Amino acid sequence: MSISNTKRPAVFLDRDGTIIEDRGHLSRPSQVAFFAGTVSALRRLKEHFELFIVTNQSGVAKGLLTMEDVGRVNGHVLSYLSGFGIRIIDTYVCPHDASDGCECIKPKPYFLRKAEKNHGIDLSRSFAVGDHPHDVAFAENAGAQGIYVLSGHGIKHRSELWEDARIAAGIEQAADIICKIAAVPAAGSNDAS
Ligand SMILES: [Mg+2]
Ligand SMILES: [Zn+2]
Repeated sequence: MSISNTKRPAVFLDRDGTIIEDRGHLSRPSQVAFFAGTVSALRRLKEHFELFIVTNQSGVAKGLLTMEDVGRVNGHVLSYLSGFGIRIIDTYVCPHDASDGCECIKPKPYFLRKAEKNHGIDLSRSFAVGDHPHDVAFAENAGAQGIYVLSGHGIKHRSELWEDARIAAGIEQAADIICKIAAVPAAGSNDAS
């Protein structure tokens, strides 16, 4: 059995309530508000992990916004982050409603498998971060590790979470936990530049 060392670990970030405030179904870039800790957390994580965004946008299925709206909002998120040297490898959107029975909605691990296949990601060394129990289940359903954040809807849904789930106050503490589990230095980017 030969094992390739070229597969890379990743962090899969939920969007609303995790890296930006959850203000309902966002259709315009002007509605985007980053959490204060997002840039510093992602700058640390990017030193050791590929970064992805995975977002359920059921507002599309409900007719509240279009995929073009979602694309514009995501485009703004990506360009803002890229201004801080943070590259998001891919942004995955499920536009369906839970009742549609699609394959791509979290907690189904469809997009994790897609990243594994298309970007050579090692899911066993990867993490998903989000403010909903389905973000944690998403990770666990593909052998990755989930970190639940109490930002966004995190406090509201906390009672639905299982006992042994890892919980962070927000994205910065999630980055601390991930770096600790992965045994990588938590403050890489400050030293490097
Ligand atoms: Mg969320
Ligand atoms: Zn879907």
